[in-house]
Amino acid sequence: MLVYSNIIVGSGPSGYLAFKKLNKKSLLITGETQKKIFTDNVHPKIKLKLNKKTNKISDLIYSKKNNFSIYSTSEVGGLTNYWGKQFFDYKENEYWPKKIFKKFTEYKKNLEIINKLYVSIKSEVIKKTSVKNLLINQLTPPILKTPVLNKGLLKKEFKKKLVEDRVISFKKIKKNLIEVITENKIFYCKNLILCAGPIGNALILLRSFPNINYLKFKDDNPRIIFGLIVGKKKYHHSKDTKLMDFDIIKNNRLAIYSTIYRVDPDHFNIYLKPFIKIFKKVLSKIFFYGQFWVSGEYNEIKLKKNNDIFHLSAKTINSQKNNVSIIKKLNNIGFKVLKIINLNFAYGFHYHCLQINYKGKLYLINEFISKVNLKNNVFCFDSSVIDKIFLKPPTKTYLATTNYLVEKFIKKNSDNLKL
Ligand SMILES: Cc1cc2nc3c(=O)[nH]c(=O)nc-3n(C[C@H](O)[C@H](O)[C@H](O)COP(=O)(O)OP(=O)(O)OC[C@H]3O[C@@H](n4cnc5c(N)ncnc54)[C@H](O)[C@@H]3O)c2cc1C
Repeated sequence: MLVYSNIIVGSGPSGYLAFKKLNKKSLLITGETQKKIFTDNVHPKIKLKLNKKTNKISDLIYSKKNNFSIYSTSEVGGLTNYWGKQFFDYKENEYWPKKIFKKFTEYKKNLEIINKLYVSIKSEVIKKTSVKNLLINQLTPPILKTPVLNKGLLKKEFKKKLVEDRVISFKKIKKNLIEVITENKIFYCKNLILCAGPIGNALILLRSFPNINYLKFKDDNPRIIFGLIVGKKKYHHSKDTKLMDFDIIKNNRLAIYSTIYRVDPDHFNIYLKPFIKIFKKVLSKIFFYGQFWVSGEYNEIKLKKNNDIFHLSAKTINSQKNNVSIIKKLNNIGFKVLKIINLNFAYGFHYHCLQINYKGKLYLINEFISKVNLKNNVFCFDSSVIDKIFLKPPTKTYLATTNYLVEKFIKKNSDNLKL
């Protein structure tokens, strides 16, 4: 029986980083599947990028009651196959994973490692405007210059260590021996490292532990804005799809963060696309659209399994009095907001904070792992471990967290070997 030292589950940014750092004695199970995948009810932005034969989305679970779905990708690269590449780091006075890093200097140290691995443009304030008690700052979008991972290269470089398969469940057989069941095979390892994202990890845990009552995870709650451009040439425009970013600051705290897009035919469905293509130049001068996020607001998504059927529910949590209407202050700088549109649950794509209800109590994933005596054999290094995020896109922080946890893991293993 072949026993691997480490099996890493998931090939998104976190899984890939963990694998690269541990690769010597590790196996990466990418998440790809040969099964036919159901793609109804997928977010339009993602649907636009799907063609009929793709198997990019898997584990799609639909809630009839709340009319929303969650899904986990089955692709190398994970959700970064669809993402906007905004690569933010958070400042000391913003939320950063305090429970994990404890000190800001530790978080910063790990961000610096990520900066070297993944090169991006820095987010800088290029214009400030005061509007009564608010400050509106325009920022350059911090776009990542290199892809997070190159699938072709990964396959070439690590062919023998990649398994294009999906984990279904796992169980501890005996001390230091975990059995990992995939769609096609059974593997064995000493350490199982979960990096399948909160949705992927949740499904694996639900299939592995029949007495989990339910799982919860958090997501951002972005909204869409649409409007008219009434002030011309007041603002610097980036050449990218992301035209500009705005921070709206109230009482010295970030109340809203917004991204404005360039009118792009690829953002529209096949019927509108030809029309948008022809009139793109004119439309870009008249209309704008974008996304915005409000401080202290997030969605909580609950996943329950009942006789092999998954049930979903969700609610929006507003920890402060909601500041949504502040977005209209963009009117003062030439962006007349005509419409604010709510998105469905789970369309924030910043999934984090996986919590498990086990025997009537709610545990963070690492607490759960300890509770079921898997602390020395099962690890989670992705966003599932982060209890709270800031309102700007979080992937750089996820990667800093993965880096920090993998380094701790390496140190612990080498210390054990020395004993
Ligand atoms: C439209 C969109 C725009 C975004 N824009 C931005 C942005 O501008 N900036 C930003 O910071 N973030 C953005 N994000 C979020 C970003 O993509 C995620 O934060 C990031 O991909 C999370 O990385 P991850 O490794 O934790 O998980 P994921 O990317 O979700 O990867 C999970 C991996 O696990 C695999 N997997 C799942 N289940 C299993 C299983 N059972 N067995 C084995 N493998 C499994 C999957 O195949 C996948 O490879 C965006 C996301 C979307 C969808």
